[in-house]
Parts: sequence; C-alpha cells; structure tokens
Amino acid sequence: MDVSHILDGLNPAQREAVTAPPGPMLVLAGAGSGKTRVLVHRMAWLIQVEGVSPFSLLAVTFTNKAASEMRHRVEALQQMPVSGMWVGTFHGLAHRMLRTHWKEANLPQAFQVLDSDDQLRMVKRVLRTLELDETRWIPKMITGFINARKDEGLRAQHIDSGGDPVQQQLLRIYTAYEVACQRAGVVDFAELLLRTLELLRDNQELRAHYRSRFRHVLVDEFQDTNTIQYAWVRLLAKDKSGQNGNTGAHLFIVGDDDQAIYGWRGARVENIHSFKKDFPDCLMVRLEQNYRSTSTILNAANALISRNDDRLGKNLWTQGEQGEPIQLYAAFNEQDEARYVIDSIKRWLEQGNARSDVAILYRSNAQSRLFEEQLMMDGLPYRVYGGLRFFERAEIKDALAYLRLLANRADDGSFERVINQPTRGIGNKTVEQLRELAKDMNTSMWKAAEYLVQQPGLTARAGNALKGFLQLVESMQQTVEKLPLHEQTEHVIQHSGLLTHYSQEKGEKAEARVENLQELVNAARGFDFHNSDVIEMDMLTAFLAHAALEAGDAQAEAWEDCVQLMTLHSAKGLEFPLVFICGVEEGLFPSERARSEGGRLQEERRLCYVGITRARQHLVLTYAERRRLYGKDYYPMPSQFLGEIPSEYIQDVRFGSGKQVVRNTGSVQQSAGNGIMIGQRVMHQKFGEGMVTNCEGQGSHARVEVNFRNSGSKWLVLAYANLQLL
Ligand code: ATP
Ligand code: MG
Repeated sequence: MDVSHILDGLNPAQREAVTAPPGPMLVLAGAGSGKTRVLVHRMAWLIQVEGVSPFSLLAVTFTNKAASEMRHRVEALQQMPVSGMWVGTFHGLAHRMLRTHWKEANLPQAFQVLDSDDQLRMVKRVLRTLELDETRWIPKMITGFINARKDEGLRAQHIDSGGDPVQQQLLRIYTAYEVACQRAGVVDFAELLLRTLELLRDNQELRAHYRSRFRHVLVDEFQDTNTIQYAWVRLLAKDKSGQNGNTGAHLFIVGDDDQAIYGWRGARVENIHSFKKDFPDCLMVRLEQNYRSTSTILNAANALISRNDDRLGKNLWTQGEQGEPIQLYAAFNEQDEARYVIDSIKRWLEQGNARSDVAILYRSNAQSRLFEEQLMMDGLPYRVYGGLRFFERAEIKDALAYLRLLANRADDGSFERVINQPTRGIGNKTVEQLRELAKDMNTSMWKAAEYLVQQPGLTARAGNALKGFLQLVESMQQTVEKLPLHEQTEHVIQHSGLLTHYSQEKGEKAEARVENLQELVNAARGFDFHNSDVIEMDMLTAFLAHAALEAGDAQAEAWEDCVQLMTLHSAKGLEFPLVFICGVEEGLFPSERARSEGGRLQEERRLCYVGITRARQHLVLTYAERRRLYGKDYYPMPSQFLGEIPSEYIQDVRFGSGKQVVRNTGSVQQSAGNGIMIGQRVMHQKFGEGMVTNCEGQGSHARVEVNFRNSGSKWLVLAYANLQLL
C-alpha cells in the first residue's frame, strides 16, 4: 500500500508519532511544530494502514473552526468524505451524547442549551426567587462559582460548606439553580460536560457501548483541558489493569504547556503530568522544529517565554529564513493605532495579498470596535470571531427565545425574555405574579400563565394581554410545525412583532438589527445539519443548539475573503502570514489583574507567546500612549512583554514619546527620560497649567502638545519650553 501521501511532508519525529503502534501517546511540542498536523495524519494512518473504521475514532479540539478544519484535512488525505468519526469540541461532543441519550441523562427531549448570558439571567431569576440581594450575591460571581464546581465534577450535595455561612448560601443558590434548570429543561455549558461524565460513569451499559465503539481518542490542545474533560477522556480510555476487559480507547494526546491560556477558566495544565502518571507506558514524542514562522519571530517568542518558570522546556528551532524585524508602533492614541494598522493592511493588500491572510489580535473584546469602524470606513470586509457574536446580539436572542419557547414551553428564561418583547402591555407586576405562581405551583411560568388567565385575579387589560401572548405562541407553533427551518424562523420574526418593532426604531443601530434578523433567516436556510450518525433531533432543536454552542460561526460560509479580528485567546491553533497584536500595554496586556498575581502574569505571558507564534512572515506590535477604554482615559506604559523581547528582533516604526519600552529588565519602571509623558500635568510660565496630550521627536527635537487650561492646545519645543512638572 502506498502511504507516501501520509508520510511525505513529515519529519522523523512526526513520522514516529504518526506511525506508532496503538497505545497511549503524548506529543509534547512547541508552537507551530506540527502537532495538529501530526494528529490529522495519525487519523489518516489509523484508517488507511491500521484498518481502523472511522466510526471508532473520536477527535477533540478546542474550537469549532479547528474541528471543521481537522475534518477537512483528514478527508483531504483520505481523498473522500469520511463518515462516522466524531470530531468536535468537548462541548459539542457532550451535547451530541446528551441528545442521543436524553432519556438516560434525565433530560427532556427538547432540552435547550444556555449560553453564558442566558445562564446569568437564570441565576438572577433564582436570586429573586430566593429573595437574595443582587448587590451582595453578585450574579457573575455566582455563575463563576457554579461553573467552577461543575468543572471539578461537583454538584451542590457533594460539597461540604464546613459550616461557613457564605458557603452555605452559595450552595443553597447552586441547588436552587440546578432545580430551576432541570425544571426548565435547560443545561449550561459546564452542565453539558458534567451530565455526560455522569452518564458515562453511572450508566454501565452506555459506558460499555462507547468504550467498545471508540478505539482511538485523539485530543488536541490538551494543555487547556479541565478536570472534568480529562476525567471524560479517561473514562473512555483503555486501562492497563484490564478491569474493563479489552475495551477502551488508545489515547493520543497533543499539547504544549507553554500555550496553556485557560487556567483562569479552570483548565489544568497539570493534566499533562497526570497523563504521564495515569498512563506510565505512554510513548512520548517531542517535536522541536518550527515550520510556521521566520527565525526572527520564533526567536522573539522563545526569548519571551523563557522568562516563565515551571516549564517542561523545549528547544524550538527553524530552518526558515530570518525574515524582517518585528515592527513596533507607538500610537498616540487608540484611533491612531487603528489607523496605522488599517493603513498597513491596505498597503499589504495592494501588493496582491489576501485579506484572510491578515489577523488583528487583541487582549480584550472591547478593543475590536475601533478597528471595525476603520475597516468599515475603508470598505474592507472583515470578520470578528468572539466578541458580541452574532447569536449573542439582543435582537437575535429575542428571535431565538421565541423559537425556543416553541420548542419547549417550560423554558422560563425564554418566556420571560419575550413575554413583553415587543411591548404588548404585560407589565412587571404580571410577570412577578407569574413567577410567584410558578414557584408555588412548582411548575413553569407558561403553565402558570395558562392557569392565571382562567382566574379572576387579573385586571381585564392584563388578562387580555397575557391571553393574547399565549395564543400568539400557540398559533405560531401550529403554523410553523411543518415548515422548513428558515420559513419557521421567518414566520416567527414577522408574527412575533419583532421585525416591526425593530424597523420602527431609529438610527443605524436599528437598521443593523433588522439586517441581523434577516441574516438569521439566512443562517437558518444555510444551516446544514449533516450528521452521519442518527440522532433524535429535529432541525429546530439542532439549530438552537448550534446557536448556543457555535456562536459566531454562523455566517462563516457566506462571507467573502475578509480580514480576521479576534482575541488572542481565540487565535489559538491558527496561523496567518501577517499578524497585528494591538494594545500591548501595561494594564491591558498584561491585564491589570494579572499584573498583581504572579501565576496570572505567567499565563498572560503564555498568551503573548501564543499571539506572537501565530505569525508566519510579518508581525506588528502596537501600543497606544493614551487609550480610552470602558469610558475612561488611560495613559498606559508599554507592556513589559515588549521589554522581554530582545531589541535586535524589533524595529521601532515610531518611537514613543516620553515613555519608552523598558528592555530586558522584565519589570516596569516609569521611564523618566525628560520626565515628560502623555498625561503629565505641567506648568508654563506664560500659559499656565496644562496637560501633555501628545509628544513627537527625540532629544533636542522633542516637541510636546500641551492642552492649557486657559490658553488651549499648543505645540512647544521641549528644550525651550521650560515646563515645570506638577
Ligand atoms: P500550534 O501549537 O500553534 O497549535 P502546531 O504544533 O499544531 O501549532 P501545526 O499547525 O500543525 O502546528 O503546523 C504549523 C505549520 O507548519 C502548518 O502550516 C503546517 O502545515 C506546517 N508543517 C508542520 N509540519 C511540517 C513539515 N514536516 N513540513 C512542512 N510543513 C510542516
Ligand atoms: Mg495546533
């Protein structure tokens, strides 16, 4: 058999991993060394050489984008579509299992998935029911608490409060939240994983089924698995003791400890060590050659990450060319930063390059807006991953809530969201009453409403409004039942009154909302629920789950070649010829919080390492000397990470003003220089008091712009201005 198409294009270490005899395997290697490539080739090898049926393969990766790419790459090596294998994210795969085994998992067939925003609303409703004060029991913290416990595999009854009253209250909330979710037939993201784990752990028959089905489980980006995800993988794995007979899968684990960036969300890089302990006979392969980046980029990344301790350590090298230096641009402010980035992109495109080969990366979602505006102004198509994603927009969530209510009347979250959206004269009082009634009757708000309209207690007006709403939902359901998905969506958008409601709003935003609603119909039309395995799930349910799980990816297919915008976190695993990392400033990157906690600072540094290693040929770093963020003005220092990259790899495109990158010390210092920085308050003999808003030039040519309280804004040559620092 000719297997050259699988083995050509692999180096010896990669070949060793791909062709290893079945058994536990750990591929531990740095960025861009071909880990994902090895994993894909391993799958092709198993199918073509070991004769493993695709049906027996399970591959897990971190994002949906990565999962679909993985599937395509296996199919390309196979030269035909491959059906039967499971490829997805942990959440996607867990969802799939729960859909198939909803009964055994004690869920209603039409159960719905809560995204994080829905979850927050749910917690707020629970707090109201328990009559707890939201300012003391902060909903965001509660969801954090609940998710963290679930990620550790713990339900409320497993946790000992140790008599601590705060802990006791948290557990009470957790319990009430679980009851409320169960009653509404909804599961949050963490629940997907926990429920699946419990299902496999407690249901002997199902466990046996999956253990004999999956012969090989392959996990990419293993460094970012959490406790429960690893437990899940172990349940499926072949164990040495033979306790479970000869069933169970061989594990093929791929990861890089230097790219562990989800510790803050419960990921445990220690799982790598545990794996070695749990599977002592595992083969270990290290890949050390980087095929992605120029040596300049790679050396910069290596130098940066070498400042972390507790690394497993590796030596990445490349045969690639040296390439050009990393460009560093010190922007006056965030507008200037966006302008510089987009201008550079335009120049690059003029040379015949593709838009999709450019990525703009940033630490925080809030940073994307300015780039978006600038791109829009210049008519450059772009796409934002993450952020306020398509399915998370208010108008889309409204429409989805109607659809969810059609699928499942017990979904109180959706019920509350749309009962008076658009306004139909159902006031807070009625909603409050329904909430109480549902609680007393131990039923859903929908059922409570059906009951309430039969009772005398409501005013005629409120009663009619409520009746109208119930009838609306019932009649929509009857009409759409047999329609194809996109017509269902269209009908609901129109007849719920949402479309009219948003068309009557004024302004650009409203226009965008209407367009988004129309886009939802398109997304429904294009929704392709192809699954080789039979799952009991109708199109609507599948689409709603997709909206919760795959937020943001809906429009992917329809979009043209466009510039890619995303947070550093979502850039994991990807690569681009030209990469911008923006806002490389103290307080933003590393984030304020990380600066005060040692462990977090190291995680931020890994995030920076991830960012740098996304770039193939060109890397541009930018920071702003003044930034407006979350409605406040900041005058940040350049990030300490900039100082940790040896200067030989960096070319300053525009020197900063008073603030300089502090090189190689690894610590932050207020750079004195001439003592002048943007934001500095100064006194001038003639003009009086003012604030420095801009700086240009160096040494005797240095100029500053000062905004004087009484004389307005002026440019002054620093050497002659004789400014006094205040
Ligand atoms: P990351 O840590 O960022 O996830 P990775 O280790 O998974 O990176 P890949 O994405 O698999 O690395 O590979 C990086 C790049 O190098 C890809 O473009 C890949 O096609 C290329 N590559 C990997 N191995 C080889 C090889 N032996 N010959 C040529 N190119 C290779
Ligand atoms: Mg990879």
